[in-house]
Parts: sequence; C-alpha cells; structure tokens
Amino acid sequence: MLEELKEKVCAANKELVKQGLVILTIGNVSGRDRRKEYVVIKPEGVSYEEMTPADMVVTGLNGEVVEGSHPPSGYIHAHCFVYKHRKDVGGIAHTHSPYATSYAVQGKPIPALLIPHTANFGGDIPITQKYDMEHKYGIGSALIKAMKNKNEKAVILDRHGIFTFGNDAADAVKYAAILEDLAKTYRAAGR
Ligand SMILES: [Zn+2]
Repeated sequence: MLEELKEKVCAANKELVKQGLVILTIGNVSGRDRRKEYVVIKPEGVSYEEMTPADMVVTGLNGEVVEGSHPPSGYIHAHCFVYKHRKDVGGIAHTHSPYATSYAVQGKPIPALLIPHTANFGGDIPITQKYDMEHKYGIGSALIKAMKNKNEKAVILDRHGIFTFGNDAADAVKYAAILEDLAKTYRAAGR
C-alpha cells in the first residue's frame, strides 16, 4: 500500500545523508497520506544506504503499525502527535545536525538574523521546554507547546536536536537543510 508515498519518504530519508545532516542510522523522516490518515516512516535500525521503499513502515495516526517488515522509527509517536495537532503538516524530519543542534546544547532559540531566515521560517526558531523521554508523547507535546504560531516550520528539541515540518517529506528535509546552513552562518559570525 501507499507505494508512491513510500518512495517519496525513502528518498527524503536518503536526502538527509546527501545534505550532510545525519550520520549512521540517526535521524528520521515521515510523510502523511492525507486521504486515509496513514503515516509512512523510516524503519528502525536499517542503514540509509540499504534502505528501500519496501522497508518503509506504514502506521495509523496513533503509531500502530499497519504494514511493514521492520519496527517503525522510535520517534513515531512524536511524528504522530504533531500530525494530529498540525493538520497543515504533510512531512516531518528529525536530525541532530550539529550547527542547529548547538543551540539545543545551549538551550537557546535560533535567532532570525538574516532575511533568508525570516523568508523561510517567519522568525526565531523556538526551543522546547525540558521533556519526559519516557512518556510516549513527551517529545510530541513539547514540540507542540513550543510552537508560537500555527505554521511553525522548525522547532529545536532542548538538549537533543531539531524537528522540521513541511508540506511533504521532501519539504521537511529542505527546511532541515536550510536551518543547518543558517545556523552554520550564525556560528561563523559568533552568534
Ligand atoms: Zn533524536
């Protein structure tokens, strides 16, 4: 089922590697099927290199597996929580890309200091409060609480990494790449 979406989500996951945003099996991308409210997400523990569309896992909006020969990414409940609360979001990416994540180290939002930043993200990238990793929806609810407006494209997960949100999986990865590039520039400027 959802063959086209599986291809798109698989390609978007591999794009994380091409853009230099992840190492090893870290990071994950999902896409939402808008008609039936399914989520297609990266499988747990499969390398980016070996990953094929057939390895993608289909779940319902509560994270229950509908189809897949692997378990879904351990972040499935965070993705599902955001999809439930943000009807506009069709794709989500999570990375620990170093420059953007350096703000998570400091517990600070990423300030909007360049025009391309404002053009893409509207303003500062908010950061979550501390969250409960043990709770199923700890990450998801922290992300939603951190969103100051209804169309936030990115949120920093405190002491962890970043999440980005797009119209589809490829769009979410695009925002992850843009944010990393902006953060790198800010760090070069000592900000
Ligand atoms: Zn993570």
